[in-house]
Amino acid sequence: MAQWPLMVTYIMLIGWISVTKNPIPRWMLIFLHAYLAASIVTFLRSKFVKILIYLFVYILFLVEITLEELYGMKIMPNVLILMIETNARESKEFLESMVSKPSFWIIPFYLVIALTITISLEKNRQKICDYVIHKIPTKYIKACSIILLIGGCVFSYSYYKLFSCKEVNEVDEWYSHMSNPDDQLTKLILSIYDIKLGEDEMKKSILMAEHIKTYNQPNSHDSITIVLVIGESYIREHASIYGYPLNTTPFLSKEKNEGRLFVFNNMISPYNQTTGVIRNLISCNSIGDGEHWSSHPPFTAIYKKSGYYVSIMDNQKDFGFKALYSYSLNTYLYNPSMVKNCYNRVNDSTFEYDGQLIDYYNRVSTNKQRKQLVLFHIMGQHTEFEYRYPKEFSIFSVDSLSFRKDTWLTNEMREIIAHYDNATRYNDYVFEKISNLFCNDNSVIVYLSDHGEEVYDYRENYGRDAWGMGNDLKQTIRWQYMVPFFVWCSDKYKAKNPDIVKQIEKATEHPGMLDNVCQILFHLSKLNTPYYNASRDMLSPKYHCPKRIINDKINSDSIINSK
Ligand SMILES: [Zn+2]
Repeated sequence: MAQWPLMVTYIMLIGWISVTKNPIPRWMLIFLHAYLAASIVTFLRSKFVKILIYLFVYILFLVEITLEELYGMKIMPNVLILMIETNARESKEFLESMVSKPSFWIIPFYLVIALTITISLEKNRQKICDYVIHKIPTKYIKACSIILLIGGCVFSYSYYKLFSCKEVNEVDEWYSHMSNPDDQLTKLILSIYDIKLGEDEMKKSILMAEHIKTYNQPNSHDSITIVLVIGESYIREHASIYGYPLNTTPFLSKEKNEGRLFVFNNMISPYNQTTGVIRNLISCNSIGDGEHWSSHPPFTAIYKKSGYYVSIMDNQKDFGFKALYSYSLNTYLYNPSMVKNCYNRVNDSTFEYDGQLIDYYNRVSTNKQRKQLVLFHIMGQHTEFEYRYPKEFSIFSVDSLSFRKDTWLTNEMREIIAHYDNATRYNDYVFEKISNLFCNDNSVIVYLSDHGEEVYDYRENYGRDAWGMGNDLKQTIRWQYMVPFFVWCSDKYKAKNPDIVKQIEKATEHPGMLDNVCQILFHLSKLNTPYYNASRDMLSPKYHCPKRIINDKINSDSIINSK
């Protein structure tokens, strides 16, 4: 086998991460992979193919090492989606944050070492080969290789099991079994397959939106504006209405005191990633009752079919990336069939700051609609926080954080926290702008964040874990999964619906999860629809909180209530 330096490089760069656990089957599989790569080059006798394989191996290695060293993540479907979903603006910010990390320089260091090994192996190929053959008889090398190859073929059965998975959840299950391979190539294949399955689920959901059932009489208000604001990465405990020491929510606090705002204290998000949350939020499924989002229609389609004028104003929408990657969240929301069945109006521009999106909506929504549903999906407090608010909202600084006594907090960390708090303060202003648009109407606004975040709150970390599960589940849930949630009612709405207002007041302490928010919206708008389910509606006396399952497997309440 003349291509043995390629095999060694392959095993060194692709296999190294896989073989630390369950080494025997994984070594055999990696050996088989490397042997196949070398055989392709030998068979085709093409230098070009050889360079391509080397390039591929090095790219996979660099991606894995960057994720691992800088972010504690690995190649996984969610990370792949995260990379692809990240729009041009975020990519620039991501690269900036990557280079600024002190551990960044380890990557070129590893690269130089790996390249040195590969080049010296290739250069001295014959010399080393002669030396090894001199030391170890060829028959032993051959016997050893055959054993490894047979083992590799046997353990390749795990790939058959992978491709037998019919649902995204099954793929997760497959991966959690330690006997299956864990190298970068396998993870890449798994991710692509997983995303493909996700795409099929999306198609199913689109079909749901096309076939909405309605009652003859959608018994509802004569005129109503119902608004859902989907915030982003909002840490509940950084809002002064939830007890944060800095005044990050002056408007919300005022509205609460004046009786228009109702703050919910026990709301949890099913995931800590936007895509997972929004699919389950928009769909009428209930995760705790074992229902998959793709088997239930989006509530936007139900409203549209019931005669509502539905607008979606999405500051995270990015047209450029949509065409390239058909499986991202944007395509679920903006697939041509979804647009036709779910909305009457979609924004065609995005803005640097969320406030500008609200101004844009105000400009385009000149004709008043009798019944309307308006969705705002904002950038909120998405990383990097300093880019989420205009200069005039630089209200908090390092000095404002004197109440944080943790000795491990550096000035740089305090600066990042201050940026986060300024973004939260700006978010309060954005909410004020939205409520100003509708304060004279019969209107109600539901505000929630897709998930939480961490910004040096209890450990030296900011951002979210890729799988959302740090070592301390309780803390992870507290910061990344518990979300702010509030309902704002205009004076007109309050006067017209005193009974509903009482129900809202009562519900603020109930435990709830974001996947069932559509039931609250149906209740608030008195929409008579076959998709309404009182037992999942937090405002109903019949409410019974379904199991609050996060990340598809963890019962959050058993963690929250544990000691
Ligand atoms: Zn998000």
